[in-house]
Amino acid sequence: MFKLPKCPYCGEEYSAKEVKKAANQKLLKCKKCEKRIKVKSAAGRIILAIVAFAVAFGLDFLFFFLFQNETVYMLCGVITVAVIYLIYLLLPYVCKFVKPDEATDDDQN
Ligand SMILES: [Zn+2]
Repeated sequence: MFKLPKCPYCGEEYSAKEVKKAANQKLLKCKKCEKRIKVKSAAGRIILAIVAFAVAFGLDFLFFFLFQNETVYMLCGVITVAVIYLIYLLLPYVCKFVKPDEATDDDQN
């Protein structure tokens, strides 16, 4: 699942930075073959968000019960921020590049 997308036409590889930029657009033009590519990321993003939520809260609860003192609040904050940051870094890896006519309508939002 965690793989950087490639151009569906020519197989040109994109870096994480380029994918992050492309993910904000619905359509992009391949830098090599110049064909139109549709960016699909909605489903992957939702899965990532759910995983992040589960991991962050799971760890927060675990630490909260392990160490019941004031430092645990700070620790929970750090864990939550770290998980969110990790998810942000992983975002490009859940994007998919597809040919526009192959795109289904599960990514309308
Ligand atoms: Zn291409």
